[in-house]
Amino acid sequence: APAPEVVADGVLTVCTSLPYRPFEFRQEGEVVGFDIDLAREVASRLDLEAKFVNTDFDGLAAGTPLNDGTCDVGVAGMTITGDRARVLDFTSPYFNAAQSLVVGASSGVTSLDELSGRKIAVQEGTTAELYVTDNAPADAEIVTVEKPFEIVAALRDGQVAAGVYDNTVVGGVVERNPEIAVAAEFDTGEQYGMVLKKDGSVELVRSINAILADLRSDGGYDAIYEKWFGS
Ligand code: GLN
Repeated sequence: APAPEVVADGVLTVCTSLPYRPFEFRQEGEVVGFDIDLAREVASRLDLEAKFVNTDFDGLAAGTPLNDGTCDVGVAGMTITGDRARVLDFTSPYFNAAQSLVVGASSGVTSLDELSGRKIAVQEGTTAELYVTDNAPADAEIVTVEKPFEIVAALRDGQVAAGVYDNTVVGGVVERNPEIAVAAEFDTGEQYGMVLKKDGSVELVRSINAILADLRSDGGYDAIYEKWFGS
């Protein structure tokens, strides 16, 4: 059972960070996506109604809107990392991810190593930023942007030679922007988890984990996956 203060108003307030298509984005004014459907299903199985609040990804990863009571849970395609787990409680993993290198389709670039002295765009505070910091040539310049779509804009405008972000979102990006191509994928072994306030409610984490396990075995997860990733 979730903590009493969560149940009190019958609402599970869920912080997310828009847009991160197809996990969370606006479509005809509605907040939709894989994470959104997953969170709705979790809320419904807790007999609660999900209400979504748009927050800044960096702040959510630091736990701010969970600690100040803005939301009960966060879902934002967020990779489970040791650093974040020091300030957040993660649920069990619900999605696997890796990192993708995106470049201009006609650039001929095929690896991070070729980007010596060049600019690489990443979203601030993400695992892509960590990956590029650790793996790009030392003299490559890392350009941070606030929103993932700014990576595409910077690439298209020729402000950067490449961008790196989650392989889970890159398929749609390339489809919508044919002038951009995936040059390489880095198997970082990432997994997304929902997040809760650190040491806030062991009960709620446990209930959500039980629901995530049920969704895996009863087809609920597959239905949501198929809806957003099925061909
Ligand atoms: N999975 C990546 C991370 O956790 C990116 C998430 C995002 O931009 N929403 O850093």
